[in-house]
Order: sequence, then C-alpha cells, then structure tokens
Amino acid sequence: MFSSLSDSLDKTFRNLRGVGKISEKNITDALREIRLALLEADVEFTVAKTFIAHVKEKAMGADVLKSIKPGEQIVKIFHDELAELLGGDQVPLNLDSPGRILLCGLNGAGKTTTAGKLANRLKREGRKPLLIACDLYRPAAIDQLATVAGQVGVPVYTPDASESDVVKVAKEALAWADSQDGDVVIFDTAGRQEIDERLVEELKQLHAFLKPQETLLVADAATGQGAVSVARHFDEAVGIDGIILTKLDGDARGGAALSMRAVTGKPIKYAGEGEKLDQLFEFHPDRMADRILG
Ligand code: GDP
Repeated sequence: MFSSLSDSLDKTFRNLRGVGKISEKNITDALREIRLALLEADVEFTVAKTFIAHVKEKAMGADVLKSIKPGEQIVKIFHDELAELLGGDQVPLNLDSPGRILLCGLNGAGKTTTAGKLANRLKREGRKPLLIACDLYRPAAIDQLATVAGQVGVPVYTPDASESDVVKVAKEALAWADSQDGDVVIFDTAGRQEIDERLVEELKQLHAFLKPQETLLVADAATGQGAVSVARHFDEAVGIDGIILTKLDGDARGGAALSMRAVTGKPIKYAGEGEKLDQLFEFHPDRMADRILG
C-alpha cells in the first residue's frame, strides 16, 4: 500500500531539496504535484484540497524560506500535517471491565477474521476475551468464528442456526458470558454486500440493547473511497467509536486510510495487515506518516 504515493512524494521532495534557494513558486509547484499524487491515491477531493492548503500556509511562512534547509523544513511540515490528517495521536480502546465491543461492517471486509485477531491481541495484553457470533444470516460465518476462536484459544458462543432474533441471541450470549471467566466480550455481527435497511435496523437494535463501549467498523482499505462512504453510513446509523482498517498489506492506493479520519471524524484504532491472526496492529498516525514518506 501507498507505494505509488510514496514514489511520487519522494520524487517531488528530492527535486525540492535539490533547489539552491527555494522560492514561493517552487513550493506552489511542489504542492500541485503532491495534490495530484494524493488524488491519484484516491484521497477524497476536499480532504486533499484542505490538506494542501494547510501545508502551503505553513510552508510559505517567512521562517521556512529564510531557513538554512527550507526543503527539509517543508518535508517536516508535510510529515506532521500527514500525521494530523491520519488522526494525530493513537487512540486506544476505551473499555470498562467487563467490556463490550461490537464489530460491524460489510461482508468480506474482514470482520470475522478481525474478531479473532482482536481477541488474540487482547488476550496477549492480559485480558480475557470472549467471542460471540451474532451473524444469523450466514451459518458459515458462525462456523468461521468458531474456527478462529479455536485457533486463538478463546471461548466462543455460537447460536443455533435456526435463530432469527438477534437481540434474543445477544441476551442469551450475555448470560453465557456471565458464566465464563471473561472480561471483554466481542460481538461479530452480520454483514451484507451493501448497506440496506434491514442491516441497519438489526444493528440499531443490537447496539441499543448491548450499549457497547466500543462500536468498531471493520472496513476494507482496498475499497478506497467506498470504505469511507461505508464508514459514514454506519456512523450515521449507530454512531461508531472507531475504525479497524483491514488489508493494509494489499496494493490499495491508500485513499481510505488518508481520508477516513477527516471525513468521518472517527479514529482508525487498528490496522489489519495480513490474513494471519496475529496481524492486527495499533494504528499510529505518526508511524504511518513515516512509512508513507519512506
Ligand atoms: P467478513 O465477511 O467481513 O467476516 O470477512 P472475513 O473475515 O471472512 O474476511 C474476508 C477475507 O479477507 C478472508 O479471506 C480473510 O482472510 C481476508 N482478510 C481479512 N483481513 C485481512 C487483512 O488484513 N489482510 C489480508 N490480506 N486479508 C485479510
């Protein structure tokens, strides 16, 4: 991911560093190139525009142009603004004990895999997670969660495949959770190919019943601006607390990661970077900015 954006930035900044005395025109030209590179990376138009305006305002500051190494200063300004765009500080989970996490998202985004990855992470951090299957539409999804739970060694609640009332299942699952030695319950919910009324209604009911401390949207980075619009819809429907962006190991152009925070106002809390169950990482905006700048 980001490889084409990183290449473009590298080229632009190398040119800028190579100029003896930087003029305002050099900066304007460089920022025009960067704006195009961001748009090519599928960053939302207004996000790219506002971002470039911020960088420009700081880069045009008299101190920068008069400094000994203006090129370096501009790269630093760009880096810091990029980290800010990606969310500023890393935002940890905010869980009570016992805690409740509700995972939502479209089919194929990586929800069930991420449920397993998150349970695995929390377990390593010394918590006692429990997994609960709440996807009543795809029996295969229930089996998949059971498999994943087995792989990470976490107890799992699987409802009867004939069950259709998701709130009833959640109630029974919580009673089961009370009988277990757990301190954080992770609910894997049903997805769809796209957001429809039924999905939203069911999720609203589940959310109102569970009152989770963390409602996290699992979104596929490979779907670019699609992922951002999905996040906006889920946020309007139930109010999400954060995002887990999956498939950052793929060759997505990076637009989803770069636009998500600015468009939704919600932090990316974790990034999935592979199919294995230990490939879920905290999302650190400054480290991501380092990675993009190479
Ligand atoms: P769900 O329908 O949202 O529950 O999605 P799944 O958990 O079944 O995942 C769909 C596919 O994406 C599976 O093949 C996963 O192995 C794969 N997947 C999930 N997360 C990642 C990731 O971070 N990187 C990669 N490369 N594949 C992932």
